[in-house]
Amino acid sequence: MDATGAEVAGFPPPDALLLGESDGIAYWAVRGGAAQAAAGDEVRWLTLFSVGAELDERDAALLAAAVALLNWHGRALFCARDGSSTRLANAGWARICEVHRHEEYPRTDPAVICLVHDGADRMLLGRHWAWPAGRFSVLAGFVEAGESLEACVAREIGEEVGLDVTDIRYLGSQGWPFPRSLMLGFHAVADPAQPLRLDETEISEALWITRDEVRQALARGDDWATVDDLPADATPPIRLPGRMSIARAMIESWSAAG
Ligand SMILES: [Zn+2]
Repeated sequence: MDATGAEVAGFPPPDALLLGESDGIAYWAVRGGAAQAAAGDEVRWLTLFSVGAELDERDAALLAAAVALLNWHGRALFCARDGSSTRLANAGWARICEVHRHEEYPRTDPAVICLVHDGADRMLLGRHWAWPAGRFSVLAGFVEAGESLEACVAREIGEEVGLDVTDIRYLGSQGWPFPRSLMLGFHAVADPAQPLRLDETEISEALWITRDEVRQALARGDDWATVDDLPADATPPIRLPGRMSIARAMIESWSAAG
């Protein structure tokens, strides 16, 4: 696309994806580039990850749908059944194989995310091996073919930290288009007396933390700069997931209860 954002605003270009309509205004997504900025516009490129928490519910939903759809289109250029080229259809909500007219629809990969607690005052946090020291979250993993969500929760917790869990309960979900997941939130109970056995290809560190410690970590907020200023040998304080994530909402909700 070479037209500027202002030029395309009045009509949908052929590769635009219809996100929906609100108050009589249709919202479309197009894959952009520097050319979309009108002359004189001050352009800042931002990611959904960085701005999601600042947006209201409608805008966050629009942007999440746009990112998820564009990610899918970028990976669905060829028919999964016969390898033929596909073309966009249904205002962006399908692709059709040019040869046999096979239809494909936007894909979503389900993943579970689970807050493991002891049924009382402690919950489990894990640190992915790629995260900096001090950064922790609840555990998550992708649903495997043919697997139920509950079986996935039990398997992931078992694989990642070696705990058996019970009382698996659904909490809520969040679209997570990085690139195309749906996060399904659960909580489950485990006995902290069980030994932690970490799958170090995924989890470098796991610990049980009290509700008071969680509250303190939440109260410290997301001020990462102060953490970077710590001496190299200092134990960094625990940092929790960002405000736009379901992980954060789950942890906040658990910390507020009891
Ligand atoms: Zn085909």
